[in-house]
Amino acid sequence: MNNNSQNIDKLKQEFIANASHELKTPVTSIQLAVETAITALENSELEDTRKFLNQILKDSQRMTLLLSDLLDLSQLEVNDPVKETVNLKKIIEAEIGFLSKENKKRVIFESADIDFLLDPDDFSMIVRNLLRNACNYSEQNEIITINLLFDNSEVILSVLDKGRGISMSDQERIFERFYRVDKGRSRALGGTGIGLSLVKHAVERNNGDIQLKSKLGEGSEFIVKFFKT
Ligand code: ADP
Repeated sequence: MNNNSQNIDKLKQEFIANASHELKTPVTSIQLAVETAITALENSELEDTRKFLNQILKDSQRMTLLLSDLLDLSQLEVNDPVKETVNLKKIIEAEIGFLSKENKKRVIFESADIDFLLDPDDFSMIVRNLLRNACNYSEQNEIITINLLFDNSEVILSVLDKGRGISMSDQERIFERFYRVDKGRSRALGGTGIGLSLVKHAVERNNGDIQLKSKLGEGSEFIVKFFKT
């Protein structure tokens, strides 16, 4: 085996170990919560029963999110992109529409109609993940701005938030699978740590690149460029 395939093998093993660990945590927690809820129910302790059922709900939502990210990941690896000319503005508006009522109010987005050749599912996934992070890592009263421009045969998408920002050392690692700056907070928000690695992969296979400008405590801007093929 040459060095390159040994490296890929190692990355895959690490990935499987991480994914199994991330799935095991909520499963273990669900098992415990079910046992405790049964005991609470037998003792007619309704408040405790409710508490543990809510815990089970939260853990299963977390597993659903992780599994749907893993599914996105395998789609990206197994299927080639299917490109078609699509209206990017409409896709972004649809993704904003999926946000909660509170988050919807925080987003500023105005753009002309821009038709461009790329894989629409990849583009939706990119917007969804960047928007989800912008909402998660900034406060409820902070504005999120999305810009979409067509300039000299390239499309530029920017998602800007005024949130916590990312330090220089974390910026270097943020696109790695399962990398999270603050594990506790990310997990509490339902984060899986693979969103940005999926985004980067999807951007690159649609002939684009992604940059991050961020300052700790001031906010972050993710800038995605797609070049005409
Ligand atoms: P997660 O599911 O944890 O959000 P991501 O791969 O999407 O995983 O992001 C990796 C980490 O990068 C996050 O855990 C968070 O610490 C950091 N991050 C991502 N987007 C932002 C943002 N807009 N502002 C601040 N930190 C961010």
